Amino acid sequence: MSEPGMKCSRCTAPARFRFPAHNARFCDDCLEVFVLRQVERAIAKFKMLTPGQKVLVAVSGGKDSLACWQILKELGYQAEGLHVSLELGAGQFSDASLASCQEMAQRLEAPLHLLRMEDLTGHSVEDISRANQRNFCSVCGTLKRYYLNKLCLDLGFDTLATGHHLDDEAGRLLGNMIRRHQRHLDNQWPVLEGTPGGFAKKIKPMCRLAGREIKAYAKARDLPVAQGHCPRSKGATLPYYQEAVLLLEERMPGTTRDFYLGFLEDKVKPPVQPDVASSCSVCGAPTYAEACTTCRFLEKTARRKQERTGAAQAQS
Ligand SMILES: [Zn+2]
Ligand SMILES: [Zn+2]
Repeated sequence: MSEPGMKCSRCTAPARFRFPAHNARFCDDCLEVFVLRQVERAIAKFKMLTPGQKVLVAVSGGKDSLACWQILKELGYQAEGLHVSLELGAGQFSDASLASCQEMAQRLEAPLHLLRMEDLTGHSVEDISRANQRNFCSVCGTLKRYYLNKLCLDLGFDTLATGHHLDDEAGRLLGNMIRRHQRHLDNQWPVLEGTPGGFAKKIKPMCRLAGREIKAYAKARDLPVAQGHCPRSKGATLPYYQEAVLLLEERMPGTTRDFYLGFLEDKVKPPVQPDVASSCSVCGAPTYAEACTTCRFLEKTARRKQERTGAAQAQS
């Protein structure tokens, strides 16, 4: 990232970070100014927040979400954290993630809302994925989206911020284009407006920052980032589309920004949250089906467990 004798493009002090996409080198202080400006610009351009607004930040313990929380606080928002603990991999990864979030909350002197997925669902994610014969990561993703939204509203917030960054969004965009997912392309936007009583507003304030820029910021600010990867992700650290985007970026610095920010520029109008007329018969969340996906997952898991207990009782 750095070369000996490198000077900051803004203040000519010795620089530690080099960003070819911006043709810039930064010292720690100027890096921070740069990062805060990028987030400020995203918030203003996409009307994410009003000054000083209350916002809940979904934090995993990774660099992106911790940086997001830190920056929102520094920009003067009443940012509180929300961490849903998954208890994965003999607890090691989950413990480290939880500890990072707690340390961050202490540093920021900000409230952290902590919940365990198992307490929310009544089952382990493993059991839910097995009972429904679904891929673990996709079940985990569905549950997380559902509970982050629900908890955000239950805790009295109307806006949920996540740490998704430029590379995440560009990777998603490439995937949507290659697979011609028109509906997803129509909906891809750094803000999704909420609906009263159903969906919280979702914002991605880091969408103008590349992963390596956030990594540099986390290093400069010495953020308590949790080490390690989810033990369930089986070594695949990045989705292929994001890997492809990073390769192009490496060969042609600036490509990712041109690709994603250009796509946003060209959009005629931002998407609106679909008006879902019906609500889940179990939990009341907006859904197109009789019961929402999460409630169906949980119902089937409970049924499978009951069948197993019934079978065991019949045998004894
Ligand atoms: Zn500088
Ligand atoms: Zn439901």
